[in-house]
Amino acid sequence: MSKYDALREEACAANLEIARLELAILTWGNASAFDPAAGVFAIKPSGLEYEELSPGNMVVVDLEGKVAEGALRPSSDTKTHLVLYRSFEGVRGVCHSHSTYAVAWAQARRGIPCLGTTHADQTAGEVPCTAMISEEALAKDYELGTGELIVEAFRDRKPLEVPMVLVAGHGPFTWGKSAMDAVRYAAALEEVARMASLTFQVDPAAEPLPEHVMRKHYERKHGAGAYYGQMKR
Ligand SMILES: [Zn+2]
Repeated sequence: MSKYDALREEACAANLEIARLELAILTWGNASAFDPAAGVFAIKPSGLEYEELSPGNMVVVDLEGKVAEGALRPSSDTKTHLVLYRSFEGVRGVCHSHSTYAVAWAQARRGIPCLGTTHADQTAGEVPCTAMISEEALAKDYELGTGELIVEAFRDRKPLEVPMVLVAGHGPFTWGKSAMDAVRYAAALEEVARMASLTFQVDPAAEPLPEHVMRKHYERKHGAGAYYGQMKR
């Protein structure tokens, strides 16, 4: 028994969801769950297959990157998660995957324009793509530098309104108010990326959704007067 049991369970369930939703094969991808009060997050151990994961082998790490609890080494992407928790207020979960269509856009180094309401229901506007990491940033600390590139891409964006990004040449990172939220956004991003690819295949000159339709869809699901789904009693 440990005070981090619930956090490790949350992180494990989210990681298993990555595999269940087929967002990553082999050992690719990872998710973490953050407890801001304790200042720690639980993350997938490095190099383990999804079938091997259990709450007990999740690794608990503090915001300095030190292992607070756990026998295994944390995911190699741990420092990127750490930068996002430090920089994005209200974020409680982060997910990284290598899902095919999202990676295709990241490799093309292009943000995904909001072409339709499926996209607008998930996020307000374009899914941004970061700059390519510089030689200096990579040499200094690759994973930390990756996190900083994401933060840079969000200088004029609200992370909880746009809970997803493409890291140039690499792949998607998503986040949310829980680890499971972050994974669900990873699945939504993959579908949005697939639809955008097909739209440009049908019409290479396809235009983004007009602002008024985009806002309407985003607001009815996420705004103050949201009316999507069942009302909470
Ligand atoms: Zn990766």
